[in-house]
Amino acid sequence: MTQEQTVRSAVECSGVGLHSGAPVSMRILPAPPGKGIVFRRIDLDGFEVEAISRNVARVSYATSLMKKGVLISTTEHLLSAFIGLGVDNAIVEIDNLELPILDGSALPFVELIQEAGLRKQRRPRKYLKILREVEMREGNKFISVYPAGSYSVSYSINFPHPLIGKETLQVELSNGSYLRKIAGARTFGSREDEKAMRDMGLIRGASRENCIVLTCDGIENGPLRFPDEFVRHKVLDLVGDLALLGKPILGRIVADRAGHAMHTALVSRILRDKTLWEEVTLSQEEHDTASSYSAHASAGSSL
Ligand SMILES: [Zn+2]
Repeated sequence: MTQEQTVRSAVECSGVGLHSGAPVSMRILPAPPGKGIVFRRIDLDGFEVEAISRNVARVSYATSLMKKGVLISTTEHLLSAFIGLGVDNAIVEIDNLELPILDGSALPFVELIQEAGLRKQRRPRKYLKILREVEMREGNKFISVYPAGSYSVSYSINFPHPLIGKETLQVELSNGSYLRKIAGARTFGSREDEKAMRDMGLIRGASRENCIVLTCDGIENGPLRFPDEFVRHKVLDLVGDLALLGKPILGRIVADRAGHAMHTALVSRILRDKTLWEEVTLSQEEHDTASSYSAHASAGSSL
């Protein structure tokens, strides 16, 4: 797609927030070209908060936006689904402070958007094309971006758990790979950390239905959807956090043991330095070239 897209019709769902446990109804509505993704708190007179880096508020176990004291919590899974499906413009109405966690992955959001359908808009889509590399390190955590003609991610994690350990996933995000490889990966947490997190006011909505629950040597609610579901979920989160750039990126991301804080730090670092990138539109021909390159690259990596 070289043009911007929005949803064709309004769709809705409801659930609870992962951290607040608060019940919430959500509606996704079409939006005009150039609008971007905008959250609307219908319980607060329709106050709008744009899904852009400037509104990033609190980032620890989830990415939350805030504008004039109005909070929109845990935005990453829905934003990830929008990027994965190529939705540039949409209004997201919610009637509470946190998005629904649903099954802990982006799949229910993907299915909801597919139910709405997509509508191509007249405005050419602008990409943020990385021109120079950026590398950020914090202790043993690392995140970087390098110039590339398409959007790809290489993510590594190293969790001291018998089912996880070191996992690395390399993925091209165009050409349907997001839907096949990333969208269904669920969030996860351990019984061991549960009490401390609840004491911090977190994961009040967590359950075996919306998160993979790790015990000291296994999982409570198997089977996993992918053997390496954990690192896939990290890619899902990264894609959602990078959506806060405000436009799709052309670049290769490499991350090692990063998290929401580093993802969003990379976003603000990129946006702060305008010599690192340029805005480009793609002709149909360039777009096809990028996609066939992607198809080739992902076929190669699956061997
Ligand atoms: Zn997540």
